Amino acid sequence: MHIVVCIKQVPDTADVKIDPKTHTLIREGVASIINPFDVYAIEEGLRIKERAGGKVTVITMGPPQADAALREAISMGADNAILVSDRAFAGSDTWATSYTLAMAVRKLGDYRVILCGKQASDGDTAQVGPGIAAHLDLPQITYVRKIEEIDEKHVVAERLMETGFEALESPLPCLLTVVKEINEPRLPSLRGKMAARKAQIISWKAADLGCDPRSIGLDGSPTKVVRIFTPPARTGGVIFKGEPEEMAAQLVGKLKDAVLGAAS
Ligand SMILES: Cc1cc2nc3c(=O)[nH]c(=O)nc-3n(C[C@H](O)[C@H](O)[C@H](O)COP(=O)(O)OP(=O)(O)OC[C@H]3O[C@@H](n4cnc5c(N)ncnc54)[C@H](O)[C@@H]3O)c2cc1C
Repeated sequence: MHIVVCIKQVPDTADVKIDPKTHTLIREGVASIINPFDVYAIEEGLRIKERAGGKVTVITMGPPQADAALREAISMGADNAILVSDRAFAGSDTWATSYTLAMAVRKLGDYRVILCGKQASDGDTAQVGPGIAAHLDLPQITYVRKIEEIDEKHVVAERLMETGFEALESPLPCLLTVVKEINEPRLPSLRGKMAARKAQIISWKAADLGCDPRSIGLDGSPTKVVRIFTPPARTGGVIFKGEPEEMAAQLVGKLKDAVLGAAS
């Protein structure tokens, strides 16, 4: 079974800074890591391979330095790695990113499962996985916390919900996005690290994928960032203290005062 895992290289910080002019992330001077949710996706890909046989291919779309993320995935046990990189992709929004990744997956041809993280820790939209499925016209199961059954033809997975979980069955090929409850990612082995150092990373440009130039990069991105800002910290407010009953009574008192104040 050919398992494809999409991984994104993200800044190793929760304090993401935005360029006020271009409205894009400032990456200079910030160390990079594999998006944490994608590490769970890699681990699940490796576990599917161990259960059902096959190979794991990791794909990232990003600048040349995203090569490091792919090598880390190889050190965990991925078989092949593809860097989708071209200046023409600069400025891509989630629509253009998912289109480009879908074109790369389509070029692979024989995939059965595509795994993504739930969301990226920098962009945070959770749109790219579902977007890839839409571009490839595939079924998708998001927020997967457990794969119950999987073979060449179908998958049964548990989808995490606020109040529990849903068990869903889908034919393959199918795209799954995973949450961190799904597994405990392995650490790279020494052998894996040596393999990663020597591994040949396949590099694909826009022309290799047959991308429509109108669907990639800034020109292919229907999202227009109007303004981007950090909301000012909240001031004021009231903190209630005491037992729950006392705090409830204080809240009711405040609400009564506010209502009576507004009415007078
Ligand atoms: C108009 C516009 C211009 C932009 N320009 C830039 C820019 O120039 N440079 C820039 O870095 N960002 C840019 N962005 C942000 C960019 O759109 C997002 O970083 C990107 O589309 C991924 O979205 P996300 O981070 O919300 O990922 P999510 O949708 O939250 O990610 C979900 C999952 O999808 C997969 N995934 C996401 N991105 C990738 C990837 N690149 N490769 C492989 N797998 C992936 C991973 O499995 C991930 O866990 C721009 C956004 C807009 C709106």
